[in-house]
Amino acid sequence: MLGPPGVGKGTQAERIASEFGIAHISTGDMFREAVAAGTELGKTAREYMAAGALVPDEIVVGMVEERLGRDDTRKGFLLDGFPRTIAQAEALERLLQTLGRPVTAVVDLRADEELLITRLSGRRVCASCGATYHVQNKPPKQDGVCDVCGGEVRQREDDRPEAIRERLREYAAKTAALTEHYSRLELLESIDASGTPEEVFGLVSEALIRRAGVGTHQVAG
Ligand code: AMP
Repeated sequence: MLGPPGVGKGTQAERIASEFGIAHISTGDMFREAVAAGTELGKTAREYMAAGALVPDEIVVGMVEERLGRDDTRKGFLLDGFPRTIAQAEALERLLQTLGRPVTAVVDLRADEELLITRLSGRRVCASCGATYHVQNKPPKQDGVCDVCGGEVRQREDDRPEAIRERLREYAAKTAALTEHYSRLELLESIDASGTPEEVFGLVSEALIRRAGVGTHQVAG
């Protein structure tokens, strides 16, 4: 699943993976977990993330390779936030070829930059369970407290204005080229992600079912 920061990739990816019964692999979540756990990987990733920069390709690719070797990917998997550069896409193609598992579809979520900035700057997340909120559109019932688990709701370090600008710049410079890459491979499904999460989910699942018939029964059920 491709798309600029703030487009709703995480929300959609999580729901698609759960309804289609496949593994959700979010490289951003994996890095955030490594940062929280204080591992070597986390220490390296943190500097890049806080600045809104991309983590170097070889680190990300190694992490994804290890992740794809786990059992829960057997029924299928959804990659969220990866690949983000042409080099990552090429590494992924080599990896999937080795595994004998080609990409079925590439969903590209799209929205105007103004909408992305509004969504990112108002976004808040629960530090304990990861539930997401928005200061205007979806505030927690009690300020700063997660409705789901009572954890602390705060702003992601990279959702601050300077990092947001840098992430959008990185996206335009390095990730936007992937849409052309996957369009050439006839894998691309461009989806208008300016609607409600429900509307976007409808469009994404329709595209996936049309592409591959993946998990039709789960969705219909
Ligand atoms: P995300 O939650 O997908 O927006 O990712 C948060 C941050 O993690 C990004 O701004 C990058 O610093 C890092 N990151 C996540 N995925 C990748 C990737 N595929 N390549 C490089 N950096 C990544």
